[in-house]
Amino acid sequence: MKPFDIHVHFEAFKPKQVDGLIADAKKVLSGAINPGTYPKANRVVLKLARKYKDFIWPALAVHPIYLPKMTDEQIEQELDFISKQNIVAIGEAGLDYFWLKKVIKKNVDEEKKRQIKFFKKQIKLADKMNIPIIIHSRWSIARVIKILKEMRPKKAVLHGFSGNLEQAKDMIDLGYMLSNGPRVREFFKDLPLNKILLETDAPYMKVNDRNAAPKDILLAVKKLAELKNISEEKVIKQTNKNVKKYFEI
Ligand SMILES: [Zn+2]
Repeated sequence: MKPFDIHVHFEAFKPKQVDGLIADAKKVLSGAINPGTYPKANRVVLKLARKYKDFIWPALAVHPIYLPKMTDEQIEQELDFISKQNIVAIGEAGLDYFWLKKVIKKNVDEEKKRQIKFFKKQIKLADKMNIPIIIHSRWSIARVIKILKEMRPKKAVLHGFSGNLEQAKDMIDLGYMLSNGPRVREFFKDLPLNKILLETDAPYMKVNDRNAAPKDILLAVKKLAELKNISEEKVIKQTNKNVKKYFEI
């Protein structure tokens, strides 16, 4: 049995490389969710999902780091486009305060408000479409959790979960899923296996000083099996079941 990667950015690889990369990915993965980040990337995600049907599953959203480059009107237009697509999740959307403080460095308070505004809009859109929202959070986990507790979307996945054990348990109590990988964090050993999803976040995540590749999902499987002291087979079986159930694919 092959594992499933709930977060790979195939659209971020060079067009020349992507077919070879997907062929390699198929050797180790049973499937993958490819989240989108901004209008152009979202179109590429849809194209790849059509070409690799039943292997790549599309999620679309406007990622917080692209907000400063877009007008409110452009974002609204994109959300309207997304609302008409056949997708398995809204993703990835969320808050990225690191980006505002370390990269953008201007209008930080104003841009924070925009991030929150469009995060909330995308939560509502996910609920309206009856699909999960895949959440990106950097330097903002407390605020993300606060918003989720207020809005209570039906389904949410905290990708690259950066909170602590207590926050993780809070999210699980609300019915949400936590995703990690390729290096799964130690406290995941104390979380129920049926609430965990695995991901590589390739190519953005670093593994041993190189960019992650889809095959690195095997590192995530190995690590979680070690942490929980169970077989890799069991990890794959249950996390695949979680994907099927939560994303209805
Ligand atoms: Zn991502």
